[in-house]
Amino acid sequence: MWIRERRTLRILEVNDAAIAMYGYTRDEFLALRVTDISAAGRRSAGGETAPRSGRRTRQADGLARHRRKNGHELDVEVTSRPLTYEGRDAVLVAVRDVTFERALDERFRHYSLRDSRTGLGNRSQLVLDSAALQRAWQQPVALLMIEIHGLRTVNVELGRDAGDEVIIAVGSTLRILFGEEAPLFHLAGQTFAAFVEGDEAQARQHANRVLSAMRQPYVAAGTEAFVSAHVGIAIGEPGWDAGELLRLADAAVQSAKVSGSRVAVFNTDPHVLRHVLRSRGFTLESALLHAVQENQLRTVYQPILDVAAGTIAGVEALVRWQHPQVGLLLPGEFIPHAERAGVIFDIDSWVLSESCRQIAAWRTAGITPRPVSVNLSARDLDGALDIADHIRRELERYGVDASLLAVELTETTALHNREAVERLLDDLRAMGVAVALDDFGTGYSMLDRIRDLRVDRIKIDRTFIRRALNGGGPLVTAVITMAHDLHLEVVAEGVERDEELAMLRAHGCDFAQGYLIGEPMPADDRRLWADRMSRRKGSRKR
Ligand code: C2E
Ligand code: MG
Ligand code: MG
Repeated sequence: MWIRERRTLRILEVNDAAIAMYGYTRDEFLALRVTDISAAGRRSAGGETAPRSGRRTRQADGLARHRRKNGHELDVEVTSRPLTYEGRDAVLVAVRDVTFERALDERFRHYSLRDSRTGLGNRSQLVLDSAALQRAWQQPVALLMIEIHGLRTVNVELGRDAGDEVIIAVGSTLRILFGEEAPLFHLAGQTFAAFVEGDEAQARQHANRVLSAMRQPYVAAGTEAFVSAHVGIAIGEPGWDAGELLRLADAAVQSAKVSGSRVAVFNTDPHVLRHVLRSRGFTLESALLHAVQENQLRTVYQPILDVAAGTIAGVEALVRWQHPQVGLLLPGEFIPHAERAGVIFDIDSWVLSESCRQIAAWRTAGITPRPVSVNLSARDLDGALDIADHIRRELERYGVDASLLAVELTETTALHNREAVERLLDDLRAMGVAVALDDFGTGYSMLDRIRDLRVDRIKIDRTFIRRALNGGGPLVTAVITMAHDLHLEVVAEGVERDEELAMLRAHGCDFAQGYLIGEPMPADDRRLWADRMSRRKGSRKR
């Protein structure tokens, strides 16, 4: 503490703590004015404080920076009170050293909210700022995520410092591009993000400006360094959440990278959603559930030929997802996700119901229904829900004979969850629903192990058929023979060529399925019922 004269700023009295803190002797102190202690230029009235932060803590006047006798600077918090000292107009000043606290605080703020190289706000800062932005902006908000490429090359060829130089330069370029006050962030090593006000068209304009700016070379380690960028855009919905927007924009960037386009917008570019689906997207589960509830699923049917008779013996129901934005999705693109997300049961029970409904509809239309084969997943057998029970109810509901329904299980499914599979097979057998072992040859292919499984037929995977004419023939015929020994019917999958069918016929294969006979098609396609196979090659599509 000290007492200073109000008018002259001279120090009139000082306590021992101040002497210890500043390093002046008492006599030296009493020869000083407070301006001599201040670390920075001209002082505000009184000299002890500079209203640097405007923040007043503990009724203090403010924070200031002072200098000790040895030149070291101190951050101090200053409190003052007027008083009369020895008849003079004076001020009592209390000073507290907050250097350590301030340094810690600064560092904490810096490291927790800023990127140390570019000085731009980081992901936490983005989340903090977004709430305020959302309140302030009336228009839609777009988040641009900018991923820089080529830094690895710079790091390897010119060194890490050069890489950092480039990152800093990219940061300043973006700063100039978006404006000093714009909400611009540096999320991670090579990823930047900016909020812009406006719709998709405006966001795309911003993205294009970023891309052309990135075409200019940077100077690092004294030479030119080139980088490029991909931009992912997510448009905020009312009440958007910054975390969600970040994930959407991130998905858009990733999809821009794989699709080869430089800019992608989440929700409007089909490939973005496709990408999300492929990469275990966060919205996937709800999107898939939505698909079931909103009637976005379709079934197509692929004819199965009775090889000896040349007639269509049945069809396989194959699911499709007709997404309103993305378009048609094939099972390979979403079934694995549905299995992980736990919605496969919903999908498969929908396909089962739909197939039963279709059988009844064919019958009503005067068409003799062929048996419909429906695929089940291993996951259908894991949960508490009973798929056999569902099948029983749906057959009843549509008045469909059990002989008109069959299920397909892959070999891996059948051997994996043995107990549940056996229970299912018993139930189906009791009902009269046939069972086929799908994709035979891709799993363990152990005929002896499936012997004890009471299945009715096996479907030889198309990879076997593909090789049949290139030295793989004996394997296919061996499988047919062994299956027949076990009283199993054999379906050859993926039959695409006349020669394949001829070979299968020669070896007594019971059924054939594949593009040669017909591709998966809608329920009203006449070719599903053509009694004699008409083989016009031009009409096939993959
Ligand atoms: P899968 O059961 O083995 O079905 C046969 C797949 O082979 C179908 O593909 C079909 O379009 C395709 N295919 C048919 N003929 C040919 C051909 O001549 N050449 C070639 N290259 N391919 C042919 P899709 O429809 O994409 O289905 C793929 C897989 O997805 C199915 O294989 C099945 O395992 C699964 N899947 C389809 N629908 C469902 C469903 O409703 N539920 C479940 N759990 N899985 C399903
Ligand atoms: Mg199948
Ligand atoms: Mg198959």
